[in-house]
Amino acid sequence: MNYESELKVAVEAVRKACGLTISVQSSLVSEETVRKKDDSPVTIADFGAQAVICHELRKSFPDIPIAAEEDSSELRSERGKALAARILEYTAEILPGIDEKGLLSAIDAGNYGGGKDGRFWTLDPIDGTKGFLRGEQYAVALALIEDGRVVLGVLGCPSLPLDLEYPHANRGCILTAVRGGGSSMRPLEHNTPKRIAVSDISDTKNAPFCESVESAHSSHGDSARIADLLGVTAPPIRIDSQCKYAVLARGDASIYLRLPTKKGYVEKIWDHAAGSIIVEEAGGIVTDINGKELDFSPGRTLSGNKGIVGTNGLIHEAVLSAVSEALGPGEEA
Ligand code: AMP
Ligand code: MG
Repeated sequence: MNYESELKVAVEAVRKACGLTISVQSSLVSEETVRKKDDSPVTIADFGAQAVICHELRKSFPDIPIAAEEDSSELRSERGKALAARILEYTAEILPGIDEKGLLSAIDAGNYGGGKDGRFWTLDPIDGTKGFLRGEQYAVALALIEDGRVVLGVLGCPSLPLDLEYPHANRGCILTAVRGGGSSMRPLEHNTPKRIAVSDISDTKNAPFCESVESAHSSHGDSARIADLLGVTAPPIRIDSQCKYAVLARGDASIYLRLPTKKGYVEKIWDHAAGSIIVEEAGGIVTDINGKELDFSPGRTLSGNKGIVGTNGLIHEAVLSAVSEALGPGEEA
């Protein structure tokens, strides 16, 4: 299958949602909201982006269910009324004519439980909410899963520079991948996709690695020990969200480590579906910390996996060995 129509609709839906998140970020995220830990801008953008994407997907593919991060129960309560009205304002800029009923029903279209049979979309409307609030990196992540395997991924990265060497020029891109068809990147506002590929670094000493900004999401202490074992001298590239998969797929980094910080934490499918296929189709490898393939079939979580190791492929075995040496014999998920 070539997934041409699915890709076209998914890219347009992600682009529209990025329009909404950019508008919320520029008008609502201020020094003050971050300082006060007021989470309303991120909540508005999260629900709004989910409504836009679910609305667009449902219009073109009414029979494909969607497993997305948010649901509308908070907005349906008396307390949530004012918030719902604000979300509607931003959503109506992108989907003129939508009313509150349509908004809530679009959000709830994302309630699918996932599983091993058939096709479904999975969506993280704003991945990297902390980065969004800091005015840094975040991603809108959409993927299509078929019989437990990711077959298409679209990653909107509204603040990611097209070239990391020029961080202030040309920000905003969409990365895409279709199983068997390679990975591409286009600027957020144009449909001019260009093929991307992982780095060709084969000596781990020269391999820059990336990890979460948040040490609660991935252990910085363990990654420093792994970097030592691999002889990596460059400091880690710390980026929020699946933008880490984007920089690995483009060759800016050669390793992505996500090392468990909390016993029992299970990764969510929408945090990895789009990013992992984009890295794989760019020539890289993504597994968990025990070298197991990611299994998207159990439901809304990757309950059969533990942590994430992504590389350009050439150094995957070496990185897995260092991970196992640094972390000791890990239990299986
Ligand atoms: P990142 O921007 O890479 O730090 O990841 C953001 C994602 O981390 C969010 O979408 C959450 O789903 C996920 N997350 C939340 N708690 C944890 C945790 N304890 N370990 C790993 N990931 C987490
Ligand atoms: Mg997320």
